[in-house]
Amino acid sequence: MDIASVAEVRRPECIGRHVCIRGWIRSRRDSKGGFSFLEVNDGSCFGNIQVIADGQLPNYESEVKQLTAGCSVSVEGTVKESGGKGQATEIAATAIVVHGWADPEGYPLQKKQHSFEKLREWAHLRPRTNTFGAMARVRNCITRSIHQFFQEQGFLYVHTPIITASDCEGAGAMFKVTTFDLDRIPKQADSVDYSQDFFDRPAYLTVSGQLNAEIFACALGKVYTFGPTFRAENSNTSRHLSEFWMIEPEMAFFDLNDNMDLAESFLKRIFRDALTQCPDDMQFFQERIDDTAISTLQKVVDSDFVRISYTEALEVMDRSRRTFEFPITWGSDLQSEHERFLTEEEFKAPVIVYDYPRSIKPFYMRVNDDERTVRAMDVLVPKVGEIIGGSQREERLEVLETRMAEQHLDPKGYWWYLDLRRFGTVPHSGFGLGLERVVQFVSGMANIRDVIPFPRAPGLAEF
Ligand code: ATP
Ligand code: MN
Repeated sequence: MDIASVAEVRRPECIGRHVCIRGWIRSRRDSKGGFSFLEVNDGSCFGNIQVIADGQLPNYESEVKQLTAGCSVSVEGTVKESGGKGQATEIAATAIVVHGWADPEGYPLQKKQHSFEKLREWAHLRPRTNTFGAMARVRNCITRSIHQFFQEQGFLYVHTPIITASDCEGAGAMFKVTTFDLDRIPKQADSVDYSQDFFDRPAYLTVSGQLNAEIFACALGKVYTFGPTFRAENSNTSRHLSEFWMIEPEMAFFDLNDNMDLAESFLKRIFRDALTQCPDDMQFFQERIDDTAISTLQKVVDSDFVRISYTEALEVMDRSRRTFEFPITWGSDLQSEHERFLTEEEFKAPVIVYDYPRSIKPFYMRVNDDERTVRAMDVLVPKVGEIIGGSQREERLEVLETRMAEQHLDPKGYWWYLDLRRFGTVPHSGFGLGLERVVQFVSGMANIRDVIPFPRAPGLAEF
């Protein structure tokens, strides 16, 4: 028997083939003519396949007519041209095997629409809905394009550690990793005695693989990481998760302009692939989630990103005479409302803001000649705000040491990072892209918890 996916049998080339498809019932409709229509989905594509179940099937009365949403089946039959609208093919079943029933009294995913909040409580079943099937396929497509983009350009994929002892760059609050019995924590004097802990020192879940990626970039040229990242901020926003996936390219001999060029062509490539490789899923997002999903992506692919310094961005906001909830003055960080004003209202395009005040950015960003700003860049997109944060790194040892002192960081913990500047230092740059922010932007989903299979956020760790 020729096992086929629903995606395959939906294509007209498949007409005439005898196949077996396997999946889950979306709906059953009985015809007066003594046969039934079954809609079957197997996740291979957005669409279902329509199955014509003839009354002559031996288990027609006993089983087929009891099928409801959620039941799992195998269907053998011949692929035929369909007379129905919106589909090229259908299957005339010669045998239907029921693998598992789904009692309609208890199965939550009935025809009616459920809110995304409700579906989060059923994270074990929501992949069977149109929305989360589409999300999973688009997320997969984006992941593939990310790897392809870097691999085609000669980047090496580097696996950076998940457990780390350096509290990185103050990028975010960290989760501790310990094997201590929390009821009996060893103390010396009045403080915790970490020498008795598993790693001999405080250890954390990583907030960024950047510092480790820099090590490899300063030996192998162009590298990227793609892994889970953890931030313990107790913030309940629609753009933050406690566990998310981050892509961090790091390139030797790249200055900030090279970094911006790379970020722009990288994002365009991802968006273009989503449009061309997932047209049905994108169409669905456009119809049901955000009616500008496709046009927004297409516009970004066709546009030049605006590049503007932090200082100029503040001037633009000043001139606009718009009132913000949090008015901004030189030296404070852009809030979400400022980011969205720039990208959604002022420029109506992605905006790269660069050269931020040194006081609000981490120690490793390269200090500009003006001494007041550093070579940072954030890429802002409509709806989501910051999607990428990056910088040219400080490659001068003395300046780096000064910056660490400024931020009260103990150079002892960073001896290996400083060594990169002692031995064969080079200008280099990189950035971090949050995978979920990309999926959010592409799909138009309002809440980031709905673009990751099993969201982790304060108070949320079920499944
Ligand atoms: P934000 O200002 O939005 O909180 P950040 O400046 O703390 O982000 P970076 O440290 O620059 O974030 O991280 C790089 C990228 O990782 C961000 O541009 C964003 O795409 C993503 N990101 C950061 N924090 C989170 C989070 N909590 N959940 C999901 N994605 C995140
Ligand atoms: Mn950032």
